[in-house]
Amino acid sequence: MKKKYESVISLGTQARYSISLNKRIRLLNTFCLIWIHLILFFYSIEMIVGLLLEVIKERVIRFSFFDATSFFTLFFILNALLIILFINKHHHFKWARLLFISVFMISNTLESLVMTPGHYLEYYLLLSSPIALTLFTKKSSSYIVLAVSFLLFLAPYYFYVVYPIAYVDRLLVLETLCVFLVIHLLVSYFKESNLKSEKLLALERDKVLSDKMILEEQEAELRELNAFKSHFFVNLSHEIRTPLTLIQGYTNQLDFKASDKENQQKTAIIKEQCLQMQTIINSIMDLSKMDSNEFQLHRMPVDVHSFLEKHVINFQSLFVKKNIDFTFNNNTLKTTILIDEDLFSKAITNLLSNALKFTPNHGSVAIHTSFKNEGITINVIDSGIGIPKEEREAIFKRFYQVKNDITKSQGSGIGLAFTKSIIGAHQFAIAVESSFGSGTCFSISIPKPFVNSGTNTTSVAPFDVIDDANTSLTAAPKPSLKTNRQSILVVDDHEQMRKYLTKVLHHYEITEAENGKEALEILKTNSFDLILTDYMMPVMDGETLVKQLKQQQDKTPILVLTARTDQQGKLSMLRLGIDGYLQKPFMEEELLINVKNSIALYRNIVEFDNANAPEVLQNLNAYADKFNLKITSYINKNINSPLLTVDAIADYMKVSRSTLNRKVKSLLGQTVNQLIQEARLEKARNLRAEDPFASKKQIAEAVGITNTTYLFDKLKERYGV
Ligand code: ADP
Repeated sequence: MKKKYESVISLGTQARYSISLNKRIRLLNTFCLIWIHLILFFYSIEMIVGLLLEVIKERVIRFSFFDATSFFTLFFILNALLIILFINKHHHFKWARLLFISVFMISNTLESLVMTPGHYLEYYLLLSSPIALTLFTKKSSSYIVLAVSFLLFLAPYYFYVVYPIAYVDRLLVLETLCVFLVIHLLVSYFKESNLKSEKLLALERDKVLSDKMILEEQEAELRELNAFKSHFFVNLSHEIRTPLTLIQGYTNQLDFKASDKENQQKTAIIKEQCLQMQTIINSIMDLSKMDSNEFQLHRMPVDVHSFLEKHVINFQSLFVKKNIDFTFNNNTLKTTILIDEDLFSKAITNLLSNALKFTPNHGSVAIHTSFKNEGITINVIDSGIGIPKEEREAIFKRFYQVKNDITKSQGSGIGLAFTKSIIGAHQFAIAVESSFGSGTCFSISIPKPFVNSGTNTTSVAPFDVIDDANTSLTAAPKPSLKTNRQSILVVDDHEQMRKYLTKVLHHYEITEAENGKEALEILKTNSFDLILTDYMMPVMDGETLVKQLKQQQDKTPILVLTARTDQQGKLSMLRLGIDGYLQKPFMEEELLINVKNSIALYRNIVEFDNANAPEVLQNLNAYADKFNLKITSYINKNINSPLLTVDAIADYMKVSRSTLNRKVKSLLGQTVNQLIQEARLEKARNLRAEDPFASKKQIAEAVGITNTTYLFDKLKERYGV
């Protein structure tokens, strides 16, 4: 039964219709059903009651109560309602609703004027405008219905008078109009507020749907990333394993009885393979730099011809081995470009390695340069396997590899992503053209401001070059030999590494320890100018060692050596309060600079401490503590306010913005903004831990950040959660 009603109510609805249209169609069907039921119910009662009264009063059945006019009117209405349902079923809702409202008004008017005049049936017309409001979206339509139904209501009083004159006088037009209007406005108000909540609901639903879509997309991305990752690691381990095997093999073969020449050949191969491994590790590090935007270009004018020629020479023998015809066609003689030679070289090397890898034996590869739009273009063209059209954009994405027999076991998909970043950092452009199956051309476009053609290659006149890298490296310190040598405690479990460090730091007095525990033992009875420790060690690692030293308030500067390149690792070490860290592999100069600077800084502090009376130092420390307490308690108190800014804190501390920044930096080692950010992140992390069900928005609001995504990105970056 319920199903039958449901099927009648949903006549004419369609999935492609809007929710609101379907709702109005269902309402019209419901109105029809209710009306049909009301007619049938009341007419049946009327018939039964009439019949009973006839039987009781006259004891014969003559159907004298039967009124043909009302029977045919109701019959007409019933048919009209069925027709309306039929029209609705055939998707003509507009006609169906028009017919319904017309039938409603006409039948009520007829009843009040002709069939049963004087029974106040015209009051049913009060329902017309609410019905119209539910069926019509346009306000004007419902007002037309309101006006018509009002006039029809007045008909039995003024136009086709069926009431005694006294009744007519009592009915004030204005009052009646008010009643009609009030009902209309009330229903219209509820309709509006209902619409508003429906819209809000729809918005929420859309949001949930889009969140769901984002989640699904993220899930797919994660799955893809996972697949990429495992593929990447398989290839990577393969690439590292090869040189490792060679190194192991040749090391085993080294024979001290054999001739120097034989051993020299073997050690040359070992060196070469070490270099190869270093290149691989470097490219992984480069990749992590790409993530943290640590690119620092040190541009200098470089002669295009000699720069490319170097690469041609490097690759010549490799191409010859594969019988590939390798040509270099330079049309930009006497041209210099402003590049970071090291980085740009990596980009060109990568393009040439790819050309070598993806071009079969007896193919051809060419480097071609030309002037274009006053800049120059460097093309690396090969007759290799080509790249399918739909994947040409994707190859510049990290870890992306076109699936083929070569990439199954070779490469990692980093090269082109890195190349693109290098080219982008230079403000140059890289493009690829390829014909699948017959070759590829990568073009690097170097725009005019970075090109100086026709001048002497040593000229740097048109370029404004600032080469900070070189200046800092050439300024590598050479520690002066002193009788009273500075001392360093080297903590590393790797014996070879300790030996190497001792050799590099031969100007210093070195004491060695194998791990953190041994270092702590030595430090009980000795003091040093610097502690240089590895991060990962057995027994006691660098992190624990540093923590213990800091607990003991040991002020000796500490440098940490690490193989970790990620921001996370860097931050967690810096947070321990160390003076610096060096990533392995590091350059000798880099180590020497760091050691020298740290010791110099430490000496300054010691001298300052010695020069000042203990009370002065105590006062200074007390001042720093007070300042720290004041500023941090203010930050913590106002952390939920987005208005917590450097200016607000400067106001509170009654200092200027620049003084505040200077003081905070010198006393707390951070900028004010960093301090605020740190406090916000820390609080957000604590809130998360305290209440895992708190919504992201709540947490963001509690720490005064309006952009939830930003906060959670930062949290992830900072704590990796
Ligand atoms: P890798 O070479 O380590 O796989 P790259 O990032 O250098 O990674 O290249 C990404 C992908 O682009 C390669 O896997 C390869 O499918 C495609 N590709 C790059 N250069 C060429 C080329 N010259 N010819 C054909 N395909 C190429």
